Amino acid sequence: MSRLDVFINRMVSQRACIDFAAQNTAGMTGPVFELGLGNGRTYDHLREVISGRDIYVFEREVASNPASTPPGDRTILGDVFETLPQALERFGPAASFIHADLGGHNLKKNDEFARNISPYVEPLLAKGGLMVSSDRMYFDGLQEIDLPPDAVPGRCFIYRKQ
Ligand code: SAM
Repeated sequence: MSRLDVFINRMVSQRACIDFAAQNTAGMTGPVFELGLGNGRTYDHLREVISGRDIYVFEREVASNPASTPPGDRTILGDVFETLPQALERFGPAASFIHADLGGHNLKKNDEFARNISPYVEPLLAKGGLMVSSDRMYFDGLQEIDLPPDAVPGRCFIYRKQ
């Protein structure tokens, strides 16, 4: 499988999982958290498919396309290891949907990062909420659920808080 194939699978899976999670949390009112703005493509998609819920973006340095840059009062700047505990104090366990795409090209580093950040993400999710990640996460209390049909196994993961 070429790197192009892997990239396409990741993009298709991100969209399928975001659409699935947006639909399956539509009845919830808690905020949506986007972890890792990057270029802003997934943030832009979240804006398209989420209505009636605030979307907060966590990013250490904003460098997104101007067309998909979140408003300042919805941007939580800094390292997620510091900003996620602050968000827990501010919002409590209220997020209806958390999408994380914080990794880079080094799969081993991504896995280590996912392992370390998982305990910071888990308490933010509300009961019934969904968490979508491009990397496998390491949660104690969240349940991994089946992917929607369009997603490619291993390119995206979905977890639910019961
Ligand atoms: N989903 C985005 C898109 O569609 O354009 C791409 C996200 S990009 C792969 C990952 C982003 O996560 C980068 O912008 C990086 O700065 C951010 N990031 C990585 N580690 C972080 C950390 N510890 N704290 C805050 N942001 C971080």
